[in-house]
Order: sequence, then structure tokens, then C-alpha cells
Amino acid sequence: MALMDGRVALVTGAASGIGLATAEVLAREGASVALVSLPGDDLNTAEVRCAAHGGRTLAVAADVSDSQAVRSAFERVETELGPIDAVHNNAGISIVAPLTETTDELWQRQLATNLSGAFHVLREAARVMKPRGRGAVVNTASELALMGQAGYVAYTATKGGILAMTRSAAAELASWGIRVNAICPGTTRTPMFLREFDGAADPDAELAENEATVAMKRIADPVEIAEAVVFLLSHRAGYITGTHLVADGGRTTCFPIGSIGTAAGA
Ligand code: NAD
Repeated sequence: MALMDGRVALVTGAASGIGLATAEVLAREGASVALVSLPGDDLNTAEVRCAAHGGRTLAVAADVSDSQAVRSAFERVETELGPIDAVHNNAGISIVAPLTETTDELWQRQLATNLSGAFHVLREAARVMKPRGRGAVVNTASELALMGQAGYVAYTATKGGILAMTRSAAAELASWGIRVNAICPGTTRTPMFLREFDGAADPDAELAENEATVAMKRIADPVEIAEAVVFLLSHRAGYITGTHLVADGGRTTCFPIGSIGTAAGA
């Protein structure tokens, strides 16, 4: 029996990157999967990739910053796939700008997707799960919920907020049998990350600089984040709630210099 057999899962931001990888792992593990992403995103390709694992799939175009669209998406998924057991609350954007150039419009746009959007999805998940007394949610935060980085004031505000929201929701929903956790990915090879190199003078040098600060000396593949998310959504994480799992190759916990005990023995 596969890990998520018989479960119905909903993933936001499922057309690309980490969300798409989670949807595929959920499908591989036997879940029926609803793929939610922005209208205009290529959900067809994502759905075909999930359906290749043999389970049921449903593509739903919805903007998570629109609370009514989120409500409708949940209703449609419950009607077509059945009661939702697992939610990966993952849709996000990253606006990179110096603080003094972060206009009101950029700030609001960053908050609307990452924080209000995550709130809308979390609230809807709670609404459908509470009457059944079961369910699990994983919110995508970031290593940048734990560390600061120049250019990311607005983005980090949203990711710190997601961790705070995760803890309070877990406290509130535990007595209904609902677990709420967060994943903090490190740098992951997704279209979002690759877009940040647009216009870079030397993308290879910037990637090398980035990788040098990771203990494992490489960025993540989306499936490595997805496997951690699916673990948190599954019964194997049955006593885990209100916390965050950091999947960052050791970046936030391991000092990035020092040569004793290298693999080469040098
Ligand atoms: P991505 O751009 O590859 O995928 C994000 C998906 O979300 C896209 O399909 C996009 O269209 C969709 N989306 C964006 N706004 C939406 C909205 N309002 N409503 C519905 N869908 C929307 O990005 P990714 O790198 O896979 O990022 C996924 C999540 O992981 C984000 O929350 C991001 O902040 C987080 N994250 C990414 C990294 C990284 O290095 N890639 C690191 C830490 C955290």
C-alpha cells in the first residue's frame, strides 16, 4: 500500500517548481490530486505528469489572493474528488527589490499572494477539515523565514508570517485532529529561482556563489523538497504539528567555511 493511498490532496502553485513536484510525489504515493494554480498557468502539462501515476487528478485555475476563488476551488475539489485530507499551501512569488525601492504596490503584491493567499488557503482547509476531525496542512515558508537577505524585506516578512500563522493554526486545530506544519526550503532549482538570474551579468558565477554557502554545496532539486512535504502530510508525521522542517542542505545551521574532514581528505 502506498503512503497516500485513498487520500485527496490539494496543492497550490502546482503548475511549476516545488508545487508541481509535490503534486507528482502525492500522485505517485496513491493520492487523488487537485492542482491549483493561477489562471493562465500550464496546468494541463502538470495534470498529465500526475495522471501518469494512474490516480485521479483535477486542475483548478484560481488566484489564491482572491478568497472567493479559493472557496470555490475547495468546493469544486470536494465535489469532484471527495473530502480533502491534505493541503500543500505553497503558491508564492518573490519580489526582489531594495527596501527604498519597494513601493506600496510591490509590498501589497508580495503580501497578497504569499501571506493573504496562504491565509485564505489555510482558512478554507480548516473549514472543510474541522467537521471531519482529521487533516494535514503544510505551508511553504522558506529558509528566508529564518535568515535575512538584502533585497528580500517584503518576501521575508511574508515567510516569517507564515511560520507564525502555522504555529497558531496548529494550536487552534490540534483538538480537531488537524496538523499544521511548515516547510522551509533552501534555494531550489525552480522557475522562480531561475528568474532571479534574469539580467545577471554572470549567472554561473552567481549560482556558484549561492552554492558555496550551502553545507552540501548544491541547491535543491524540487523533488527533494516535495518528499519532505509529503512526509509531513502523511501519517508518518502523525505526532508532528506546529513546527517547521528546514530542507536547506545545511545552509542555516552549518558554518560554510573550514576544511577539516573534507570528502577528499585534504
Ligand atoms: P515557481 O514560480 O516555480 O512556482 C510557483 C507557482 O505558483 C507558479 O505556478 C505560479 O504561477 C503559482 N502562483 C503564483 N502566484 C499565485 C497565485 N496568486 N495563485 C495561485 N498560484 C500562484 O516557484 P517555486 O520556487 O516552486 O516556489 C514555490 C514556493 O516555494 C513559494 O512559496 C516560494 O516562496 C517557496 N520557496 C522557493 C524557494 C526556491 O528557491 N525556489 C526557496 C524557498 C521557498
